[in-house]
Amino acid sequence: MPPVPSFDPVSVRAAFPILAAGAVPGMNGRRIHYLDNAASSQTPRPVLDALIRFETAERANVHRGVHRLAEAATAAFEGARAKVARHLNVTEQTIVFTSGTTMAINVVAGAFGDTLSAGDEIVISELEHHGNIVPWHLLARRRGVVVKALPVTAEGLIETAALERVVTKRCRLIALAHVSNVTGAVLDLAPVRAAAGAVGAQLLLDGAQRTPHGPVDLPALGCDFYAFSGHKMFAPHGIGVLWARPELLEAMPPFLGGGGMIERVTLTETSFARPPRRFEAGTPPIGPAIGLGAAVDWIAGIDWAAATEHEKQLTQRMLDGLAAIKGLRVIGPTGLQGRIGVVSFVLDGAHPHDVAQVLDAHDVACRGGHHCAQPLHERFGVNGSTRASLAPYNDAEDVDALLGGIADAVAKLA
Ligand code: PMP
Repeated sequence: MPPVPSFDPVSVRAAFPILAAGAVPGMNGRRIHYLDNAASSQTPRPVLDALIRFETAERANVHRGVHRLAEAATAAFEGARAKVARHLNVTEQTIVFTSGTTMAINVVAGAFGDTLSAGDEIVISELEHHGNIVPWHLLARRRGVVVKALPVTAEGLIETAALERVVTKRCRLIALAHVSNVTGAVLDLAPVRAAAGAVGAQLLLDGAQRTPHGPVDLPALGCDFYAFSGHKMFAPHGIGVLWARPELLEAMPPFLGGGGMIERVTLTETSFARPPRRFEAGTPPIGPAIGLGAAVDWIAGIDWAAATEHEKQLTQRMLDGLAAIKGLRVIGPTGLQGRIGVVSFVLDGAHPHDVAQVLDAHDVACRGGHHCAQPLHERFGVNGSTRASLAPYNDAEDVDALLGGIADAVAKLA
C-alpha cells in the first residue's frame, strides 16, 4: 500500500539523524542549522535503512551472477529503477542510472552530441551550472557545434523574450536549468517548449534543483531529456538519472563502453544492449541506486502542497530578514513568485567565504562561492555569493539562526 502523504515538519525533521541535537561532533550537543541543501541534502532513516539492508543482506554485483545474492541485488537494483520511473510517470526503460546530473548531461553531450554537425547550435543560458555549460564547450571543440546563451534578467530569471533572437533554424538542442541553483528561479517552460518545437530542437532540462522539491511529472513537462542527482533529493551520493524520450534513447549510440552495455562482443566488433543498459557501462552504483529508490518512496510519503507552503513561509521569512539588512543584495527574485527556497545574496565589502565562515560559527551551514555558476555571477558583477537553500526539514529556527549570523557578519566584516 502506498503511504498516505502527510507533512509534519517536526516528524520530517526527526527522520534525519544528522539534524538531531548532538549528532554532529564538536557541537557540544547543539543542532546544526543545515541550509546547504542545494549542494547536498541530508538523508532520512528509511534511505539509510535501505542501504544497510543491501550491504548486509543482498550485496553482490547485478546482472551477472545466478547465485541468490546476485539475484537479490539485481531485483533490488531494478526495483529501484521501477520506483524512480513511477515517481516520474515514465517507463523503466527510459531511466538511465548515472553518477549524477553532470554525468547525465555528459551522456547526452557524448551520445546525442555525436549525431550533431559543425555549425549546429546548442542554446544554454547565462544562469547554468557549469555541469550544463562545460559538456557543450567540450562538444564544440570535438564537433564544431556553436554554443549560444540566453541572457538573464535583473531578477535572475532566464530572459525568454530573447528566445526568438537566439534560437535559429540551426538549433538542435536547448539545454536549460529547470530551477536555478543560485537564484532559485523556476524556468518559464511554455515559451521554451514553443521555441524548441518551432525549429525542431530537442529540449534538455537540468532538474538537479527541481527534483528535491516534490515529484515531477515528466510527460507533462514536454521535454526530451531530463537530468538530476540523487544526493540533492535525500538519496546517497554517486547516483543520478538521465531520462530521455524512448525514441531518442533507441537512436543514440553509447557514450561509454564496457561491461553491462553490450549484446555481443568479438575481438573486432561490439553490438550494444538496448536502452537503458546501453548507457550504463561497468558496474553501476548499486547501493546508491537502491537508496534513490528508497528516497523517492520517502518523497512520495510527503504532502508536497503542505511542504511547499512551509517552504514558502520560510523563504518569505528569509527574504524579509535579508531585505532589512543594509548593504545586502539578493541575487534573484526578491519575492516568492516563480522561485523556490534557494536564496543567494551578496554583502557589500564582505567575501562570501568569510560570510559562510561567520555563519558556521553560528552553527549555520551555508555555501559561499560561485556555486559552479561563474557566468551568472559575472552577469551580476560579483565573484561569488552566499547561498541559503531550504529543504522540508528546515524550520523558523534555522532561518533565524541564519539572519542572526548575517547580522554578526555585517558587524565583523562589512
Ligand atoms: N546542475 C545544477 C542546477 C546543480 O545545482 C548541480 C549541483 N550543484 C549540478 C547541475 C551538478 O550536479 P552533480 O554535481 O550532482 O552532478
